[in-house]
Amino acid sequence: MTRSIDVPVSRATTYVALFAVVVFVAALVGIQSRPPGLLASVWLANAVALAVFARWPRMFTVTAVAAALVALIAADLVSGTDTYAAVTFNVANIVGVIGGSFVIRHRRDEPLTLSGSADFSRMCIGIVVAAILSASVAALSARHPDPGAPAVEALSWFSSEVTSYLLLVPVFLSIRASTPRRRPTSKSTLAWEWAPVALTVALMLVGLGVQGPLLLALPLPALLWCATRIPMLGTALLTALWAGWTLVLLGQGALETGGILGADGQDGATATLSVALIALGPLLVATVCLDRMAVQNKLRAALEYDSLTGVLSRAAFLRRSQQRLLADSGPVALLMLDLDHFKSINDTLGHAVGDIALVRSAACILGALPTDAIAGRIGGEEFAVLLPRAGRDDAAAIADLIRRDHERLHVLSARTATVSIGLAWTNDSPPSVSPLLISADHALYDAKRSGRNTVVSVDLV
Ligand code: GH3
Ligand code: MG
Ligand code: MG
Repeated sequence: MTRSIDVPVSRATTYVALFAVVVFVAALVGIQSRPPGLLASVWLANAVALAVFARWPRMFTVTAVAAALVALIAADLVSGTDTYAAVTFNVANIVGVIGGSFVIRHRRDEPLTLSGSADFSRMCIGIVVAAILSASVAALSARHPDPGAPAVEALSWFSSEVTSYLLLVPVFLSIRASTPRRRPTSKSTLAWEWAPVALTVALMLVGLGVQGPLLLALPLPALLWCATRIPMLGTALLTALWAGWTLVLLGQGALETGGILGADGQDGATATLSVALIALGPLLVATVCLDRMAVQNKLRAALEYDSLTGVLSRAAFLRRSQQRLLADSGPVALLMLDLDHFKSINDTLGHAVGDIALVRSAACILGALPTDAIAGRIGGEEFAVLLPRAGRDDAAAIADLIRRDHERLHVLSARTATVSIGLAWTNDSPPSVSPLLISADHALYDAKRSGRNTVVSVDLV
């Protein structure tokens, strides 16, 4: 647990005060939903505290924990709970929260967000530890029961804890989570994102007329479909909605399972726990989808970009240039650049120095380009640049700027790597990149023949 907060004291105090108020209100809601003489089946106050400590670890301080404990006890006392129960129950609550927070923070200082299945596992382990700890402390303290206190039954306590945590914590941990970037969606795919959401809600409503166990299971396929399609926060919210909705219907006896899943005592606890365990399904699927998306993004980046220089790979350069030419009309220029006597840099200074020269050369090229230019590495020490909508003089000026910058590009203190450039320009974009490439390549050949470190331009007719 952190003993000091790194933010200005007044701001830290405000955060802790706000946090205590939220815990207090969540506890009041839980106490009000408590059936007379029984424990609350959903107790969100602990979930709020655990979620805050996991999501904003700098909040996990002795002061904030003490403030949460005071808020919990205060909520019970103002609601007329017996003092012994108010103290022991809330010590149990806070012990669970502390234990769960330590597990979630084990060897990890940064905030926990749900950006993959590993984060999900960490969250689940933290939740189970929190629930076991608080149920154990509550059950132990109930060995000396006070006549006015609600009865403590370890399984009920545990299931209420796990359910409450699973309703709330995934939502908190999905807010502004650093999830892998999704591919940009077109309008038609956007409609497909809403389809599973609409189906889930529709099936929940249809369930009202069904009654029995089917009511619980009916929206699940749609919820799993959501997990594969919509952002993590959406899945977390919808799963919480489904779980909350099912728990309410469960409380009303709508499952009609002849006592197996009745809503009283131990049966109620088993039913509550069942809802929580089922809710794990869509959440797990959503986080596994995030894993898959992260791998896909890495693979796509590896295919799109040259790993040494960071400019586009040959295939990506050709594809993007082609797309650009098809989308655009008007003037366009293509530069073909080749470092001069590069082999001798490798031979005299070593391959590693040659690599550094390539990285610097790419940075030098990128630094001279307008934002709409497309740059790629198309061979060992050869780069190409497409300059859409560039006038002949502008393109020549950019090429000469790159050439002059290379004269100052020191590979080692005394050695520079100059560049020869072939420039092909046309006033009317061709439908294919090939004629530009061929002409620029011929111009580059001429630049090499005429002594290197020069730009040769050619106009396409
Ligand atoms: P010219 O002025 O005629 O272009 O001569 P050059 O030496 O630059 O051209 P040449 O085609 O003879 O040699 C290119 C060299 O580029 C050979 C190759 O070892 C080197 N090269 C290609 N890819 C890489 C790379 O990724 N890293 C390094 N260090 N060298 C590379
Ligand atoms: Mg070459
Ligand atoms: Mg060369």
